[in-house]
Amino acid sequence: MPPVDETSFETALGERVQDMLDGCTRCGKCAKVCPSLVPAGISDAQPEDLIGGILDLVRTGD
Ligand code: SF4
Repeated sequence: MPPVDETSFETALGERVQDMLDGCTRCGKCAKVCPSLVPAGISDAQPEDLIGGILDLVRTGD
């Protein structure tokens, strides 16, 4: 049986935050195809604004 990776989601995310922030061009294409925007009630938002908010959330937790 292979060893179990004990890294938590939060730890794994924290190790990747800067790469995610550096890599995203804020093109908004992911928001244009995301199926969660309608049930979340944010389908009217501009994709570039949405990804900006997501990056702020990833960066600051707020
Ligand atoms: S906005 Fe979305 S699709 Fe565009 S670079 Fe960032 S994560 Fe990728």
